[in-house]
Amino acid sequence: MNRKYRKTIIAGNWKMNMVASQVKPFADELKALSPRPKWCETVVCVPFVNVPAAIKAFKDSRVAIGAENLNENAKGAYTGEVSADMLADLGVKYVIIGHSERRQYYGETDISVNKKVHAALGAGLQPIVCVGESLEQRELGITIELITLQVKTALANVPAEKMRKVVIAYEPIWAIGTGKTATAEQANEVCSAIRAVIRSLYGARIARAVTIQYGGSMNDKNAAELLAQPDIDGGLIGGASLVPAKFSAIIDAANQE
Ligand code: PEP
Repeated sequence: MNRKYRKTIIAGNWKMNMVASQVKPFADELKALSPRPKWCETVVCVPFVNVPAAIKAFKDSRVAIGAENLNENAKGAYTGEVSADMLADLGVKYVIIGHSERRQYYGETDISVNKKVHAALGAGLQPIVCVGESLEQRELGITIELITLQVKTALANVPAEKMRKVVIAYEPIWAIGTGKTATAEQANEVCSAIRAVIRSLYGARIARAVTIQYGGSMNDKNAAELLAQPDIDGGLIGGASLVPAKFSAIIDAANQE
């Protein structure tokens, strides 16, 4: 973390978990455990149908609500889809884009990720753009090249003035939901390479200000070590974000003086 230059953001990704009636009890427990995090922004990204309940349950708190996806089109004949404006109108602040599960199961590509980034920014939402390599790609030694391509494509034609809204999440696919975490050094190396890509595109001042999260089996035990790395500015957390005590411990780790 480097709080002098950029915001630390701890974001939970509920994926396809929790029904709407579970949202308020979760929120009450989390608010009691982490009433006013001083240093970090806390975000809870929930399934679309849970958004209204989450907005209501976290209304009187510092927790922002995120969605897990959106459609890249503004409106029209896209049955079953949800637009950026629909989310923004409900009070959603963040949206996860290009999670590896969406790339793997729903055919999302770097190009569709770029379209979604533009849709999110156009509606005033803050995209959390996920990038990451598979185990095979890591073993082939092409991690940095691959991530560079993912980041450059995701940010294509994003103007500099919009970059302060963009969050990047480095999520090695082999670490998501597997219990295998990248070592703090491995994670920092890639986050630092992502910052270098942003520097090459937008200059040092913007690169210094962009929040880059790590995601992949981050939990209450390993968060402090990961967050102590200079280029890791927070976490995108799946499994551990479903348990208020674990999520709150990660928030605490991001709030150490
Ligand atoms: C994720 O869903 O983005 C994630 C990192 O999941 P987990 O923390 O469960 O590995």
